Amino acid sequence: MRMRNKPWAEDFLLQHEDIVSIDLARKDHIVDWFEQVQPIHIEVGSGMGRFITEMAKAHPEINYIGIERDKNVMIRIVEKAVEQNIRNLRLLTVDAEKLTEIFNAGEIDRIYLNFSDPWPKVRHAKRRLTHENFLKVYETILNKDGEIHFKTDNQALFEYSIESMSHYGMKLKNINLNLHDNEPVDNIRTEYEDKFSNKGFRINRLEARF
Ligand code: SAM
Repeated sequence: MRMRNKPWAEDFLLQHEDIVSIDLARKDHIVDWFEQVQPIHIEVGSGMGRFITEMAKAHPEINYIGIERDKNVMIRIVEKAVEQNIRNLRLLTVDAEKLTEIFNAGEIDRIYLNFSDPWPKVRHAKRRLTHENFLKVYETILNKDGEIHFKTDNQALFEYSIESMSHYGMKLKNINLNLHDNEPVDNIRTEYEDKFSNKGFRINRLEARF
């Protein structure tokens, strides 16, 4: 997702340090920011944040953390969280490759990957969020029953991800090649999901565990 650079982005995020951390600026453990001790679900690459904010409102019994490395994009999630006073949502402006520095081993109960950048060129494969280097990170922070839930319109990324996860030894289930044909009532559509579905792309989804 490309957003115009906003020179005021960092100042804006710093004004909301109670819910968003920039580059790990806050010293205490992010999990301790929550008012309640309850399961933690994270989304990696939250974009403008519709999914994570709607999930947090629909599931007050879960604590959510949105991870988005682009400060200019993160502003949009913070605005939603503040306007709607969402108490069980915290945000991190960091690259996903740093997640093992942020979370303790086994601390996370679920990871959502929604419409991750496809990085179609082979030389950029390591940037795909389902590359084995990222799978290693997820394996460390997820608890033993934890799952990854992945949605994408991009057929090539979906096929790559099935291969990457299978090769890693992960178990896949509920593979769906057309999520919006008989769409589950509890499916929360992301901004990209709406955009690509409206253009006629089929939405793929799977669940995976280590
Ligand atoms: N999930 C949103 C949706 O479905 O509407 C946004 C999808 S957008 C294509 C992908 C987002 O992931 C971008 O905002 C990008 O900045 C973020 N992203 C990509 N790689 C990332 C990484 N390694 N760590 C954190 N965020 C990342």
